[in-house]
Amino acid sequence: MSSSSCHKAYITTPIYYVNDIAHIGHAYTTIIADTLARYSRMSGLDTFFLTGTDEHGQKIEESAKARGKTSQEYADEISATFKNLWDDFGISYDKFIRTTDADHMKGVQKAFSVMYENGDIYKDVYKGHYCISCEAFFPESQLVDGEFCPECGKPTTIVEEESYFFKLSAYEDKLLAWY
Ligand SMILES: [Zn+2]
Repeated sequence: MSSSSCHKAYITTPIYYVNDIAHIGHAYTTIIADTLARYSRMSGLDTFFLTGTDEHGQKIEESAKARGKTSQEYADEISATFKNLWDDFGISYDKFIRTTDADHMKGVQKAFSVMYENGDIYKDVYKGHYCISCEAFFPESQLVDGEFCPECGKPTTIVEEESYFFKLSAYEDKLLAWY
């Protein structure tokens, strides 16, 4: 929750992945966020409470394929189960955002262009051991038996891809001073 000096509070749950339907962990997190949002409003703060679904990721594409659906059809279906569940629970969110929403796409494009024009984004190649399930790269030193994911135990694959990077190093001094 933000400070009371500006009389505003912004509360968000994680934006949940739609690779599968909601489980009790999602409900636990969302109910806690709802409790904070309700308390924040009762305290007189101008409160904005966000939740929603993240619909981009290879795991989501794979889940859709396994069910014979397009990624968008699958995301629509799973996202709706999250939203219906929160409505059944009376979760007092102000906005349910989806990363496939047109206004969200516009926002991301705008943020990306500002960073790109600023020289903060550059193209390079990344190569590493990738676990599709965990959507994460792992250094060789962390792999189990030189191949398997240390988090979930599934085999990793070597992924080499051209990608855009954010030049975080340009902000190193500023960040260290801030921390
Ligand atoms: Zn894994």
